[in-house]
This record gives sequence, C-alpha cells and structure tokens, in this order.
Amino acid sequence: MALLKKNHSPIGIFYPLSYNSSMFSSIDYRYIDSHYPENSLFLCFSDMKTLWVEEEKSTDNPFLQNSAHLQEKAFHIGYYNERPVLAQRVLSVDNTKEANIRDYLHLKDSTIVGLLVRASQLLTWQENHQYCGRCGKETIAMTTEPAMVCQGCNHHIYPVLSPAIMVRIRRDNHILLARNARAFCNTFALIAGFVEAGESLEDALHREVMEEVGLKVHNVRYFSSQSWPLPHTLLMGFTADYLSGDIKPDGEEIVEARWTDPRREESIPRPGSLSRILIDDFIEELNDKEMV
Ligand SMILES: [Zn+2]
Repeated sequence: MALLKKNHSPIGIFYPLSYNSSMFSSIDYRYIDSHYPENSLFLCFSDMKTLWVEEEKSTDNPFLQNSAHLQEKAFHIGYYNERPVLAQRVLSVDNTKEANIRDYLHLKDSTIVGLLVRASQLLTWQENHQYCGRCGKETIAMTTEPAMVCQGCNHHIYPVLSPAIMVRIRRDNHILLARNARAFCNTFALIAGFVEAGESLEDALHREVMEEVGLKVHNVRYFSSQSWPLPHTLLMGFTADYLSGDIKPDGEEIVEARWTDPRREESIPRPGSLSRILIDDFIEELNDKEMV
C-alpha cells in the first residue's frame, strides 16, 4: 500500500529533499555592505568548489563566526538557528583551512546544505556577470533584489539556474545504473543530463536516455528535485519503466551501463544526493517485496 501511494503521489506530496521553509524568504535575499549584524555567520568561498572553514569543527560546520578579516560586501542568504548567514568570496581568512564543498553537501542538516548551495550559486553568478554581456560595461549588485545591473545600459541580470533531469529506469526487479566517464571512484549512478533550449523536461529525459544508453522508456513520473551548486544546477528526478532497446553506452559520457539489483553494487552515489535517494527508494521497494 505504501508503495502504491508513493508511486501515485502528485508533485508536492513526497518531499525527501525539502529544506526548512524558514531559511529562505524574499526579504532574506539581499546584498549588504560591511555593517553586518553582530551575530552573523559567514560562508566564505575561495572559488566555486572551495570554502574556508575553521580548523576545528570543520567536518559538520562550514560557518565562520568572525568577520574581522572581511571588508567586502556580502550576500545575506538566510538564517541558521536564527542567526543571519552572509556569503562572500574572499582570498583567505586567518586561522582557517580550505575544504571542498562536496564534503558538506551530504550533511544530515538540510538547512546547512541549502545555505551552502545558495551561497555557492549566487557567488558564482555574481562573479560570472561582473560585466554586461550586452554592452560590456561594469555591473553592480542591487541591494533591493538579486540582480546585477549594468551601469551603461541598465540591463538587469538575474541569477542563473540550469535545469537538468535524472531518471531511474526500472526493468522488473532491476534498475539501470551507468558509469560516467568522469565519475568519482567508478561510481555507478542514474542517467542524467541538462535540458536543452526548447525542450520540455520529458523531451530532455527521452533524449538523454536514448543518447547515453540507446533505450526507450515509458511511464515517466516525477519524483523529487535537488538544487546542486556545481555550478548552478536544478536537478529534477524522475522514475520510468523500460520500454525497448538494448543497452548501448555512448562511449563518451557513459562508458558502462547495466541492469542491476543496486543492493549488490559496491559503488553507488553518496547519501544525500538525489541519485542515491532514488536508488535507496528502489532498494526499500525491493526489500518490502521480499518481506511479503
Ligand atoms: Zn550594458
């Protein structure tokens, strides 16, 4: 019964990745100068993938408590335990070490993950739009809304998101797992890809599945979504059933793919990722079946 309910849930019922709703609201989203509230917490990045963390307590807490070294303007991106959280890109901060943002994206505290993703995406967007793409003049960040505005032609540039699909394809008691040529540690994961201009999500899903592994699918259903910061992806997860075709990895993005019982796989994506949540959901279904 539980399975039936999950499979037939309309969008919005099943929320494995929902963030604390108090974290984001329209008023939180501002660019402010260096007069920070005293109790602020800081997320400081040296580049898109690298942040500065305190030498101690760094495994589960990416926040810096002290803004003494920071002179630049910052994005106020939300709250953590009712303390304002500000995001900045800085060259270095004393008494800190560099850490990879990937190591923090799997924390159980989804509020921290959401703040990190937002910080990284906004700072990347800001850095990529310091000059107007229309006339070439410098832009400045607005303080009333999230926008970079051109000083020459008043062109407004809003934060960029790149939609991408991910799909778990089922064939009887197996799912398709594939190894991407760039995968870490030879991880086997789900098929995924960016949505092209002019495509619907469904178009992108069918195209990616055909391009990467040569299969046709049907019974496509929405599952859940995840914001991902490398660099600014909104990943939308679906489930689908195998329809026809033999597996043919494209040899470029996908170097190996197979129908498998994911419980037998040694290397699957890390907990917390949408890929892993989709895989774990299928494992739960298999386990439930075996108990009947
Ligand atoms: Zn311009």
